[in-house]
Amino acid sequence: MTAPEAVRPKQPGGLLSVEEARDRVLAAIGGPLEAEWAELADALGRVLVADVVAATSLPPWDNSAMDGYAVRSTDTQGASEDEPRRLRVIGEVAAGAAPDIPVGPGEAVRIATGAPVPEGADSVIPVELTTPADATGRAVGERGGDATGPPPATILAHATVEPGGSIRREGSDVRAGVVVIPAGSPVSASAVALIAGSGTARVAVHRRPRVGVLATGDEIRAPGEPLGAAGIPDANRPALLAQVAVGGGEGVDLGIARDDLEAVLGALRRAVAADVDVVIVSGGVSVGPYDVVKAAFDALGRIDLWRVNVQPGKPFAFGAIEREGRAPVLLFGLPGNPVSSLVTFDLFVRPALRRLAGHTRLLRQTDRAVLSEPVSKSHGRRAFLRVIIDRDPDGRAIRDDRGRLTVRLAGGQGSHVISALAVADALAIVPEATDELPAGAEVELWWLDAT
Ligand code: AMP
Ligand code: MG
Repeated sequence: MTAPEAVRPKQPGGLLSVEEARDRVLAAIGGPLEAEWAELADALGRVLVADVVAATSLPPWDNSAMDGYAVRSTDTQGASEDEPRRLRVIGEVAAGAAPDIPVGPGEAVRIATGAPVPEGADSVIPVELTTPADATGRAVGERGGDATGPPPATILAHATVEPGGSIRREGSDVRAGVVVIPAGSPVSASAVALIAGSGTARVAVHRRPRVGVLATGDEIRAPGEPLGAAGIPDANRPALLAQVAVGGGEGVDLGIARDDLEAVLGALRRAVAADVDVVIVSGGVSVGPYDVVKAAFDALGRIDLWRVNVQPGKPFAFGAIEREGRAPVLLFGLPGNPVSSLVTFDLFVRPALRRLAGHTRLLRQTDRAVLSEPVSKSHGRRAFLRVIIDRDPDGRAIRDDRGRLTVRLAGGQGSHVISALAVADALAIVPEATDELPAGAEVELWWLDAT
């Protein structure tokens, strides 16, 4: 994914490229978090530490693929629409019931889909190919109409069935003892089906990273607090907690701290005491007189203030608090502007959380798109523009004959414009060396969480 050092664009003025910044973050992570047992409902989206082995074969025994009659296939030889074979119905086996009646020559046992095939029978004739009849062979119901009620005395079989017909063989899907999902795989909904279906209820997965989220700023107000003359509602703490949850972490709400060293230090100490793996602090990482986050990080651990060549997203701080005998607590200081906060989370924090959670695919899916309007951005920075993708009336993204999407700007691109952020499907990447692009130009797209 990452370009080798030599081919990366040189960054002006001591700025780090997006890749350099991300590589440094990822290099600080020794490996995934430890394993724990999880019930399947709690394992969704998490990464398996060990292979999951089938506890049972699937199907566990030969069973019927259809509602019909278990028969000996030779008894149906030569049967046709006009020359049916009459078979004596000697009993019934329902799903969930053990079959106790063997099927002899000239006999049939009514069987439900999923029920075990009784001894003696080697195939199932679907009910649609039979007519219920009395002991003399006179039809007592409609062709194919006998699926419920008491079984008829006989049936007329209107077709020849082959040995094994409509029978699902024991182990034909999964054999007991085989690896059904290998270690390292994320648990998807379909993996849950296979794991549960082959008899396993608990799996070993990497622990979810615990992530403390702190908002800072004298102007930041909690929900319900009056804004007064100079307050603004806190967008970033709820947003970051949501991003942590969607990104597979467990959020720990650290509240809002004033632009005061002691307040931020107190919150960081509480975070460490709460046993977090990661702390994200929003705001206060610039070099303004009230930006105390770096000083607070410095007092407890080590921290680098980085100037990353990204728009929006500069500045950005990253560091760690060392712990005796354990992995360090990772520290992320994100810019306060909500869009910068979201973008830097996506570019740098989310991959780190995914590595901690055991994922090997760390980055978002990328795509190619064509601009439907011209765009411009700051010289020398890599811009991530919020864009909306053209869709058909059913909401499916439209691709041209070269597989490319078409995108338009989601609105104002200022790093404070949350309204454009909320409607954006993706970020369009405009490289450092490009100042503007005309309509029709092709861009790389970084998908955001798809809904
Ligand atoms: P800072 O990074 O602290 O210099 O903040 C940059 C801008 O982001 C300022 O306009 C802040 O008011 C705004 N900001 C900081 N934190 C938040 C937050 N939690 N929610 C909404 N806006 C914020
Ligand atoms: Mg601030």
